[in-house]
Amino acid sequence: MNKINFIDLHAQQVKIRSNIEGAINTILDHGVYINGPEVKEIENNLIEFCGAKHALSCANGTDALILVLLAKNIKAGDAVFIPSYTFTATAEAVALVGATPVFVDVDKISFNMHPDSLLSSIEVAKKHNLQPKAIIAVDLFGRPADYEKIDKIAKMYDLWVLCDAAQSFGSQVGNKKVGTFGLATTTSFFPAKPLGCYGDGGCIFTDDDNLAQIITSIKSHGMSSCRSEFIKLGINSRLDSFQAAVLIEKLKVFPQELQHRQSVANSYAELLHNKIITPGLPSNVLSTWAQYTIILPETVNRDDTAAKLKEKGIPTAIYYAKPLHQQTAYQCYAYLGVELPHTEYLSKHVLSLPMDGYLTLDKIKYITQGLNNLII
Ligand SMILES: *Cc1c(COP(=O)(O)O)cnc(C)c1O
Repeated sequence: MNKINFIDLHAQQVKIRSNIEGAINTILDHGVYINGPEVKEIENNLIEFCGAKHALSCANGTDALILVLLAKNIKAGDAVFIPSYTFTATAEAVALVGATPVFVDVDKISFNMHPDSLLSSIEVAKKHNLQPKAIIAVDLFGRPADYEKIDKIAKMYDLWVLCDAAQSFGSQVGNKKVGTFGLATTTSFFPAKPLGCYGDGGCIFTDDDNLAQIITSIKSHGMSSCRSEFIKLGINSRLDSFQAAVLIEKLKVFPQELQHRQSVANSYAELLHNKIITPGLPSNVLSTWAQYTIILPETVNRDDTAAKLKEKGIPTAIYYAKPLHQQTAYQCYAYLGVELPHTEYLSKHVLSLPMDGYLTLDKIKYITQGLNNLII
């Protein structure tokens, strides 16, 4: 058996390398490294894939979040509700535009924002004289957040919803694909994400023409459509032609990879010890399985387990060992006093297992046997 990687980007590369080399050569020939034809092409392909009206590519998934917040004029005094159990970028974007990230607890089964906790965090924000403005729901590990319930709460309080789909582009609920929930959706093409390029990249999806127009301007320094005037403050955030070309090839194999990821998840669920809590999905939901994250029994020491698995050549990771509300960068928001018991519980007991679109059954068996032997 070959070495087990936490995410095997090599197996995918073997499959698409000659096409990528061809696409890179095309760019070297035409020489349009920024805003080349590949950028428009991948935006159109992404629209066709997910069904959103607009796809606005940008430099990375963090910029994508910041761009939406800037376009909606989110500023100091505004409250934006986000889970604490996510990657730092979600909170960072809110704080960088001067607004206050108000943390929300997650559901212990879905790992996603809990509607009841959202309601209580909105009350906390109001008590502290913050203006509730927006909700950033994160589709953690690929599973779409509970948009039905979140949208209802958003309507009640006149908030808008942004979907941080950095981990879930490719997921769907019924026939509705991620990219079409909320006012806008952002994603990341960081190499380790389910759909990644070979560098940094990101994208914003929306059906709102006006919002799309404002974001288009802000991501090009606030340029007007006649290109000679700068009508607002903006930033420079672009997907370059090379990254777009890589994504064009990767998107072609993406549907097959998503199917394989689902079969890996099925095998894990079937083979893992019944004392391990495995992540299930409602029957109408398809996940990208950006991470396959299990919850270990409380009797099991997670660090020892991970160390013993590593000795056997089984890599694992912990997403997230320290939730955002406990991170130094966000201590300035601790005064809000939001309670996040599920977040804290999960951060102590989760473990993510190898997952990609090429993981073989013999490796899955080796991983699950190795782990089951350590469960008491
Ligand atoms: C990766 C990630 C981001 C940021 O994406 P970058 O492209 O690395 O900037 C934002 N939110 C979540 C939930 C992520 O996992």
